[in-house]
Amino acid sequence: MPLADDIARAELALLRERDLLRALEPLRSPPGAEIELRPGERLINLSSNDYLGLAGDARIAAAFAEGARRWGAGAGASRLVCGDFPPHHELEDALAEFEATEAAVLFNSGYAANCGLLPVFAGPEDLVLSDALNHASLIDACRLSRARVEVYPHGDAAAVDELLETKRARRKLVVTDAIFSMDGDRAPIGELAASCERHGAMLFVDEAHATGVLGPRGAGLVAESGVHVDVRMATLSKAAGALGAYVPATRAVRDLLVNRARPLVFSTALPAAMACAALAAVRILAGPEGDERRARLWSNVRRFAAGLEALGLAARADSAIFPVVLGEPARALQAAARLRERGVLVKPIRPPTVPPGTSRLRIALSAAHTEQHLDATLEALREAL
Ligand SMILES: *Cc1c(COP(=O)(O)O)cnc(C)c1O
Repeated sequence: MPLADDIARAELALLRERDLLRALEPLRSPPGAEIELRPGERLINLSSNDYLGLAGDARIAAAFAEGARRWGAGAGASRLVCGDFPPHHELEDALAEFEATEAAVLFNSGYAANCGLLPVFAGPEDLVLSDALNHASLIDACRLSRARVEVYPHGDAAAVDELLETKRARRKLVVTDAIFSMDGDRAPIGELAASCERHGAMLFVDEAHATGVLGPRGAGLVAESGVHVDVRMATLSKAAGALGAYVPATRAVRDLLVNRARPLVFSTALPAAMACAALAAVRILAGPEGDERRARLWSNVRRFAAGLEALGLAARADSAIFPVVLGEPARALQAAARLRERGVLVKPIRPPTVPPGTSRLRIALSAAHTEQHLDATLEALREAL
């Protein structure tokens, strides 16, 4: 049996050979539209999911600090045991109000929420239909559920309808990202909802990149589309600039998740201080300032899409995410390095985050970007590509 270090060296050599090796690189500044990586290296940051520019917000940081002084840094136990604090409930109540649902259930992360949620509703007797480009946390959630999983072609509502028509199972669930994390396009939510309704199937939508960005008060793609969706998951880690995730729910669904969702039952609670931070973030995100930030974000999206088109690059102004697909990993690495030389940080995205042959630059815009940031980025792209 090789030891861990031998295995690691062999695996790393393979990754390096395929241009798939990744490494950590800490920021030397708070998150924001401009960041510092190497000492003295100022970069325009287009790699964060900080869509409203709230991740470094001083008011949210103050709520976090205040919460930590009042409640401590650690929760001490899972919520069911002894880690449940008033801020968790205040946040859940605020989220339920924001979502206009009876209740909401907080999770420590979007990853944990997906892995907790899906196995509660799908088991070995059930069928899950999963979009080919769903986020890794949904893929892992599908596996954990032990349901039969059929992966349907990306965004193909007709294929979903066909599968729902022909396959037999106790329950059928369709699982999709609202906005796809690496492509920035939107799920055909209206068609999926209609198809699920026709076939008595459940629809499960992950709003990670839509909450705070789309819909009235930033309530997401489902809210914008005005369709009925059974189960939704939204994160507090992207546009909200904090950490955690939640499931808007009926009281019964909430009670069931509190009993059965394993990441909630078997993992230490989110620190109460983070619930305080997230509450401050949600109040900003859902209020008039959130609307102003969304207006700035969407104006950035339109300006940037027009700029990409002027460079001869395809651009869809569906979300704050713009992929520039380059193909092999080496090409994405090279393009990212050239951008960085020009003061622009766009991390290359390679398999397994995206399918083989579709390595890319993934450009994510923020309300915090100025027109100068966008124009400088477009100019750097023109030179780098
Ligand atoms: C980022 C992301 C998650 C995970 O959320 P975290 O809060 O970062 O754990 C889940 N789903 C999608 C679609 C995501 O992009």
